[in-house]
Amino acid sequence: MSLSQIQSQISKAAQTADRASANINLLAVSKVQPLDRVVSVLNQGHRLFGENRVQEAQERWTDLFPQYDGISVHLIGPLQTNKIKLALDLFDAIHSIDRPKLAAKLASEIQTRGTSPELFIQINTGEEPQKAGCLPGDADAFIADCRAMDLQISGLMVIPPIDQEPSLHFALLRKIAERNGLSGLSMGMSADFERAIALGATHIRVGSAIFGQRIPATGV
Ligand SMILES: *Cc1c(COP(=O)(O)O)cnc(C)c1O
Repeated sequence: MSLSQIQSQISKAAQTADRASANINLLAVSKVQPLDRVVSVLNQGHRLFGENRVQEAQERWTDLFPQYDGISVHLIGPLQTNKIKLALDLFDAIHSIDRPKLAAKLASEIQTRGTSPELFIQINTGEEPQKAGCLPGDADAFIADCRAMDLQISGLMVIPPIDQEPSLHFALLRKIAERNGLSGLSMGMSADFERAIALGATHIRVGSAIFGQRIPATGV
């Protein structure tokens, strides 16, 4: 599929859901993709990207930032506390806040800098032991804790279990967001972004459907 095909699918899904497609941000997930595919998407005018490793993002985007105006890269993968400074240098948004220690260190560095990226809390809606994210039962308290640290939280992010209907997880994420007054919903990937849009996604993260299969193929 191509970028323009994805964009028209987004418009169609938005229309069906009676939503404005301007409220749906498409993150082109460029992790592990060869540079020529990323450059091709940049040359088609797209400027919003998602990366899941801080180091890999730094290597790629440090060279590309000066070459194109208006690039915005979001971190959608795990953040180690020793990479916070680098992450704040690189990313306009962090989608993977999932634990108190990370939140506290982020809060302190954001205070020092006086500017904050957009922040999302990752929720492990499937309660999968191997997966990052705050458990649904801990979410309300964790959101309150983040706010008490003066972190401006924009929304929530989810990666549903691979073997379950994602809509159930999108709906749960939305419910947690609504009861906490959060409007951002980072949900939906190549296989299910239309269902995510139907349930209110504001940020969809689409990799392989835009760029082709990752080489080497990696899990999420
Ligand atoms: C890789 C990745 C995606 C994109 O996955 P595709 O199935 O290729 O669209 C989305 N979100 C996260 C967190 C990822 O790591």
